[in-house]
Amino acid sequence: MSDAASAELSTAETTPSGGGAAEPDPSLFDKVVNLCRRRGFVFPSAEIYGGFRSTYDYGPVGVLLLRNVKDAWWRSMVQLRHDIVGLDAAILTPPAVWEASGHLQNFTDPLVDCRNCRERFREDKLDDPRVCPNCGARDSFTEARQFNLMFKTYAGPVEGAGHEVYLRPETAQGMFVNFRNVLETARKRPPFGIAQVGKSFRNEITTGNFVFRTREFEQMELEYFVPPEEADTWFEHWCAERLNWYRELGIPAEKLRLRAHTPEELSHYSSATSDVEFLFPWGWDELEGIANRGDYDLRRHQEFSGEKLEYFDQATGRRYVPHVIEPAAGATRAAMAFLMAAYDEEEVAREGQGQGEMRTVLRFHPRIAPYKVAVLPLSKKPELQEPAREVLSLLQPHFMCDYDETQAIGRRYRRQDELGTPFCVTVDFDTLEDRAVTVRDRDSMAQDRVPIAELVDHLHDRLGF
Ligand code: ATP
Repeated sequence: MSDAASAELSTAETTPSGGGAAEPDPSLFDKVVNLCRRRGFVFPSAEIYGGFRSTYDYGPVGVLLLRNVKDAWWRSMVQLRHDIVGLDAAILTPPAVWEASGHLQNFTDPLVDCRNCRERFREDKLDDPRVCPNCGARDSFTEARQFNLMFKTYAGPVEGAGHEVYLRPETAQGMFVNFRNVLETARKRPPFGIAQVGKSFRNEITTGNFVFRTREFEQMELEYFVPPEEADTWFEHWCAERLNWYRELGIPAEKLRLRAHTPEELSHYSSATSDVEFLFPWGWDELEGIANRGDYDLRRHQEFSGEKLEYFDQATGRRYVPHVIEPAAGATRAAMAFLMAAYDEEEVAREGQGQGEMRTVLRFHPRIAPYKVAVLPLSKKPELQEPAREVLSLLQPHFMCDYDETQAIGRRYRRQDELGTPFCVTVDFDTLEDRAVTVRDRDSMAQDRVPIAELVDHLHDRLGF
């Protein structure tokens, strides 16, 4: 942890990570949602059948964005560390796991109905628990009922008691139930972690804000097992690490903050929880929760399964149930934050003319950008197509590339700006003579002439990987 980060944390109740007081921009929401539809990031699911409420499909560019977010997380959590290993556990889970974890009993939200307009709400998310946000009626809500968020289904052809299984509402339990398997096979000792990325499902009462809250979503979770006396230190460590991860991938510091949960908000087993929050168009909201979960999870599974889930330290002869620090992030929610943070509009001069024009540009960090490079022959003429395809084949083993040969070059640049592609490589008639191409920078729009023979190294250098 850097000194600056730890100083920030030690005083953190609600700590903006940057200096300035940023304001939310409500107009950003529609702009980003429209761009996502128009450019193939995100489509409403089953759209030709009228869509399926709050369910989304990631299109050709969105799937790259989402994959890059997950890869960046995996890289920082697993690849660059010696103390964390990965796991990919099953989504279908037997009831015993959820009984032990407490989800069957406690994974509920309080649901209220408005008697006036019949809309349904999560009571704990209402601005004013006495006023319906839909119709404005006062004191029109029914008594709150606890609604379990887990999706239940049946394994095998027989429906009914004894055949129930649940779609996991979090990836975390897969890591707790595999604690011993990993400990025995991975040659790790506390402090060590298990990381997992995958789909989770919650039958949310109120979905919304685009992909912010959906019933099917992806999570990126780490369970970090530590000796009990080290838990507080590791909690601070992970709060700082996780805040930094978003910053290093290009989210401006003033749009990120760490917010410590109040005692009333804390789960009964958690001694401390902090959320990494992002300034969404509707205000500050959660990107990720980092919790000090004590030994609750391993103890519960030990109790319910009858299996020992301890660590035995041979050097000291000490036997203990490790404590757990859990940074739990949403991949789909993070992808949305990266999109919102990258969105920019600016007036640029139109070449050869006095007046300017507006361009929209997604200023993604290169690791997050769906395509790293777009190869664009200046025109569709066959004599340019051939060298352009050659350049494409040269780059494809190294970078995710787009290729586009239709429309005027200026419009193709604008399209790549809207996809957030850091570099466009243009093949023109001079290329046939000088075996060089033009490399255009997304942010500055500056153009450099680069020999094809040096292109791969040039792009590696400028992308930074
Ligand atoms: P909330 O209070 O907003 O319902 P939570 O605190 O229950 O969320 P966690 O259980 O801590 O959320 O889940 C960890 C992360 O998983 C969240 O920070 C979020 O990024 C993501 N996540 C949780 N629920 C959803 C959802 N319905 N849609 C998209 N992402 C979600």
